[in-house]
Amino acid sequence: MTFPDIGPDLKARMPQLRGRLLANQSLAELTWFRVGGPAQVLFMPEDEADLSYLLAHLSPDIPVTVIGLGSNLIIRDGGVPGVVIRLGRGFSDIVVEEGTRIRTGTAVPDVKVARAAQEAAIAGLSFLRGIPGAIGGALRMNGGAYGGETKDALVSARGVDRAGRIRTYTNADPVSGAPRYQFPAPFYTATTQQFIGASDFYQNTPTNYRDPQTAQWNLTVERELPGNMALRVSYVGMNSYRMNLTVDLNQTRPGTQPYNPALKPYQNWNRILSSENLGFGNYQALQTELNRRLSKGLSFQASYTWAKNLANYGGDAPSGFAPEVIYGTAVNDRFSLQNESRQRGRDQKAAFSLIGNL
Ligand SMILES: Cc1cc2nc3c(=O)[nH]c(=O)nc-3n(C[C@H](O)[C@H](O)[C@H](O)COP(=O)(O)OP(=O)(O)OC[C@H]3O[C@@H](n4cnc5c(N)ncnc54)[C@H](O)[C@@H]3O)c2cc1C
Repeated sequence: MTFPDIGPDLKARMPQLRGRLLANQSLAELTWFRVGGPAQVLFMPEDEADLSYLLAHLSPDIPVTVIGLGSNLIIRDGGVPGVVIRLGRGFSDIVVEEGTRIRTGTAVPDVKVARAAQEAAIAGLSFLRGIPGAIGGALRMNGGAYGGETKDALVSARGVDRAGRIRTYTNADPVSGAPRYQFPAPFYTATTQQFIGASDFYQNTPTNYRDPQTAQWNLTVERELPGNMALRVSYVGMNSYRMNLTVDLNQTRPGTQPYNPALKPYQNWNRILSSENLGFGNYQALQTELNRRLSKGLSFQASYTWAKNLANYGGDAPSGFAPEVIYGTAVNDRFSLQNESRQRGRDQKAAFSLIGNL
């Protein structure tokens, strides 16, 4: 597989280009898995200015792909059309700055950054030791290992955008300067509320609302043991379904964009709270009980219970049927109720008692 050679045309349009431009260059050698076809053009810029020059003069129709050390890439046999950029020498500086910061080029292997941090006694970057990529790939993939992640260490990144402009992206908290990482709030909050359609509607109950139900079951085995002892083992299960959950029917779908009231399904309202049969709960317990008859009417009892309760309801506690009362707090995300479920309880209880029968 070979692509039409656009190398001469690019060179003619960009006479000041200094980096290497190679047409139909195989990418297999540049990835960990050693497979795949060629890049239509592989460009290895000399430095940031060279990269910026190429991107500023490259027709927007030509696709651009950036690769690092290729440890997270499988290249298709058909190759990659357009320009593939691989950052090398001009992006491999590593500088320990005053305080606890390291400034590193994107082509520096993660392991080198971990080592530089170790030598400078800077904590928090040792997780990079085990990741076989370079820093550009770590940023793109949010590389992490041993409980550490790139997002927690990144303070700011300098990059070149598709139009060749040099940009700085900050991840620093404006007050403390510490790294922070957050998505914009995608859902309604009091501060994102708009004035048009600002009134809440509550509380709707669907006409097909059904009574919540619970099914319980148990299995008990009892056995007499030598030495005046008896053992009882019980398994208890309970499934609750059609439980009440309050949802906001005007919720926008979650995403990485900030809350946008224009996406509300019902523009004339703010929140539309509705009580729905969407809750479920699941309780499982194993109970063991040992009884021993002692002399003089006394008996000794020891029991142990393992229990867990997984549920996605809770919080709805109506105290009356007056209209216009908020019956419960709406769940965070009605589009993924499974994620709303959490442990409502996980118990391990032991009890010992000495009982006297007079
Ligand atoms: C044996 C093995 C072990 C691994 N262990 C881990 C691990 O413990 N933790 C972990 O998180 N990952 C791990 N990985 C996955 C991989 O190493 C990481 O995702 C790594 O961060 C990729 O970096 P890279 O330089 O190889 O990027 P590449 O694989 O070359 O590229 C990955 C992505 O990043 C983009 N990219 C790369 N450089 C840049 C740049 N300069 N600018 C913009 N975009 C860029 C590419 O376009 C691509 O989308 C492992 C992989 C292997 C093969």
